[in-house]
Amino acid sequence: MARPKVFATRVLPKEAEEMLREAADLEVWPDYFRPPKEVLLEKARDCAGFLTTIEDPMDVEVMEAGRGVLRVVANFAVGYNNIDVAAASRLGIAVSNTPNVLEKTTADLAFALIMATARRVVDGDRDVRLGRWSNWHPLGYVGRDIHGATLAIIGLGQIGLEVAKRGLGFDMKVTYHSRTRKPVEEARHGLRWRPDLAAALREADFVSIHTPLTPETRHLMGRKELASMKPTAILVNTSRGPVVDCEALYEAVRDGVIWGAGLDVTEPEPLPPGHPLLTLPNVVVTPHVGSASIQTRTAMAALAARNILACLRGEPMPSCVNGEAAGKPAP
Ligand code: NAP
Repeated sequence: MARPKVFATRVLPKEAEEMLREAADLEVWPDYFRPPKEVLLEKARDCAGFLTTIEDPMDVEVMEAGRGVLRVVANFAVGYNNIDVAAASRLGIAVSNTPNVLEKTTADLAFALIMATARRVVDGDRDVRLGRWSNWHPLGYVGRDIHGATLAIIGLGQIGLEVAKRGLGFDMKVTYHSRTRKPVEEARHGLRWRPDLAAALREADFVSIHTPLTPETRHLMGRKELASMKPTAILVNTSRGPVVDCEALYEAVRDGVIWGAGLDVTEPEPLPPGHPLLTLPNVVVTPHVGSASIQTRTAMAALAARNILACLRGEPMPSCVNGEAAGKPAP
């Protein structure tokens, strides 16, 4: 029987590549940058499996090109806003993501941003390197305390919960805003639910965003929401860039509506050099590295590979997001 063809849109950690090569004819896009849309269309007409990243727009056009051929799209990420899941489901194409392997690593980065912003780590490092720091001063580089502060988690899912646990370890009071109440986590960790977003924002010293990007969460943090935060508060975003209105955020930090921001994700991404946000010393920006540890990226790739292989073998997939589509023949 012919081996199924699989297309990976980036070079993968070698363990995952080996897993796929054992059971399939694997083609890997060799460039550092994403393949152009024409390549996605061409490969969709020819391959049973795709291993994609968040930069690959798996839209209705690509899904239609794969009609009857493409059986599974495994995203190398837990978020899958780059994939038209409804189109995939309609065409019987299974879609998977990578939960349960990256939440602790991403939470570590969110906490690193909390600390870097509050304690002016990047600002200070820059000055030392440039020879601009000359002496200790009682008012030099003063930041904000983390211990004793109130941390609001917006979106208490896997990553949000891990950030909450880190906050508790740092003697913070932790509240959360999610659409549904989580009584088990409240009882286990002493978290307090705030059904009203504005109420959560008003009392927080740190706000950390952990929702997926959906039509409902696009610009969840806009001008009005930023205005309800304390002028001493810090906003951290490790979810997706468009969840925060970056123009409104720039104005809010510039005008002292809030104190600072730590961003792993932005809109646009990357921010072009000279973008207004990059002119503010109390904004820290990292290049979308929430899950970027060697161990976690290896685990994510292996999980994506296992999803592809399971689907192609007709076995249950470890993390399919549209289970109803898996194994369904294309209409
Ligand atoms: P998750 O376990 O699905 O948690 C997301 C939580 O968001 C859910 O528990 C949900 O709770 C809540 N939520 C959804 N819509 C909401 C809304 N409108 N208002 C308030 N809360 C809402 O996902 P996760 O694994 O924690 O990941 C979260 C996101 O982080 C991913 O979707 C991805 O975009 C991003 N991410 C970024 C990086 C990075 O490198 N920076 C790495 C990994 C993930 P309710 O249903 O109760 O509302």
